[in-house]
Amino acid sequence: MRTGIEQIEPRVSPGAEARYWQATLARDSRADGAFFFGVKSTQIYCRPSCPARRPLRKNTLFFFTKQEAELQGFRPCRRCKPNEIPAAVRIVQRAAQVLQSEIDDAMNVAAVARKVGVNTDVLRRAFRQQAGLTPKELAAALRLKKFKKLLHEGNSITDALYATGYGSASRVYERSDAHLGMTPATYQKGGNGMKIRYTTAKSSLGEVLVAATERGVSAVYLGDGGAKLLEELRDEYPRAEISPEKGGFAQWVEEIVSRVEGSAPRRELPLDLQATAFQRRVWQELQRIPRGTTRTYSQIARAVGNPRAVRAVARACATNPVSIVVPCHRVVRADGNLAGYRWGISRKEKLLEREHA
Ligand SMILES: [Zn+2]
Repeated sequence: MRTGIEQIEPRVSPGAEARYWQATLARDSRADGAFFFGVKSTQIYCRPSCPARRPLRKNTLFFFTKQEAELQGFRPCRRCKPNEIPAAVRIVQRAAQVLQSEIDDAMNVAAVARKVGVNTDVLRRAFRQQAGLTPKELAAALRLKKFKKLLHEGNSITDALYATGYGSASRVYERSDAHLGMTPATYQKGGNGMKIRYTTAKSSLGEVLVAATERGVSAVYLGDGGAKLLEELRDEYPRAEISPEKGGFAQWVEEIVSRVEGSAPRRELPLDLQATAFQRRVWQELQRIPRGTTRTYSQIARAVGNPRAVRAVARACATNPVSIVVPCHRVVRADGNLAGYRWGISRKEKLLEREHA
């Protein structure tokens, strides 16, 4: 009888491997924690951001956890120390605790840094690197979370506003629109622990697959066959529990299909997306593009405050898991060329035609 972890641990899928290899080549620190790579020729494993020379693709293996790497005989690299919690992560974790407990106070970066025991530059750098957002933005997100919780517990809007320190209702609505349903999580870990239900529906642009967690819509795919789309979903979330839905989110599906057919949004759709802070900003910006109009990648890069990140914006568009709901089809090249679309360029063209009409 065979033992060994490969029977229990899901393998990294080919699609994920391709993404992980890109992140490895880019030494993308945002991918730290999402996976590790092992070098077969040296039997050493590293974080994606490791400064060491890149191995050849054929010598590289990917693991979700350091345990998997070590069970297969790989030893931790001495440079990137993949078996230790990175200092920047510890700093952000401590700061998040401080911010959470002092949510009513005006945010004071210097005071938070003092409590964490680092100087403000180190704090800001750790935030930029690990969270992709400023300490102030995290404070705002935490405040909103508390606000939502208070409403959930049956408090009136005014009470919740008062308790969370918001000056006026309009400020909350501005913010809640921007944050709604977007988990400021780090890189997805193959959907570990997620329970995803899915269903498919027909549209004039082919099959539409809608998947959701108990918190909201997590994937909207377009294609020619339901089986192929389901395969993509499993590829995207190899560690999630995926099962068919039995009519529970029929209204969401109906809304999404009507948007595919070019209708204006009729109901709000809760979203449950795992995103890096940068992806989250781009996707929020995409949701602000009015129906019937388009933006260029550079315009989006400027709008998210990072005018030089045009290619990163294009990547964030390409990795948008909820087509239609986050309308990545409304982003085109500066010369008017439609550029790519994960679900086929002709679908993008038709979607835009319908919205213009
Ligand atoms: Zn290393």
